Amino acid sequence: SANKSKAFAKFKIVFIGNQAVGKTSIIARFVYEQIPQQHQPTIGIDFLSKCIQVDNKTVRLQLWDTAGQERFRSLIPSYIRDSHAAVLCYDVSNAQTFIDIKQWLEYVREERGSDVLGVLIANKIDIEDRAVTTEEGEKFAKEQDLLYYEVSAKEGTNVQSTFKNLALKLLGPI
Ligand code: GDP
Ligand code: MG
Repeated sequence: SANKSKAFAKFKIVFIGNQAVGKTSIIARFVYEQIPQQHQPTIGIDFLSKCIQVDNKTVRLQLWDTAGQERFRSLIPSYIRDSHAAVLCYDVSNAQTFIDIKQWLEYVREERGSDVLGVLIANKIDIEDRAVTTEEGEKFAKEQDLLYYEVSAKEGTNVQSTFKNLALKLLGPI
């Protein structure tokens, strides 16, 4: 019915990960279909939102960006508290950003346990000289019960489909 298609879900999705892994770029690629020209380390926390159509429903995704700097880690608990999904991002050309995912995940688990959809995003797959393989990312995601996606914010690869898939997961079984 017409009523059914007007069902309107809203989800808060928080982005976490080291500085310069591409969190802001992924969000900007999804929302504006382009990425910012210059790297601007995010100050504090900000969000953008976008509506998409999935499964004959309109879904509003509210995307919360963060800075990866140490001084902002104290902010994590407050903004992760009422989130529906935590998106942990790393840069496939930088091994340390993958190693540090463990710590970021710990912050999320401390605050929310498994009461939040956990997502792992491997960004910058356009870079040929990878330091972290697909297999390593997938293995970690499987062990930690996280969804796993590989994207390039720079080229736009898999970005729209990742958010669409995420929205479907958040809507849950039909
Ligand atoms: P944030 O600190 O996690 O928000 O990272 P930014 O979005 O500011 O990106 C950091 C740098 O990585 C910028 O110079 C971006 O242009 C670059 N970058 C982001 N995504 C990609 C990507 O998919 N591929 C490549 N090659 N560079 C990217
Ligand atoms: Mg940023």
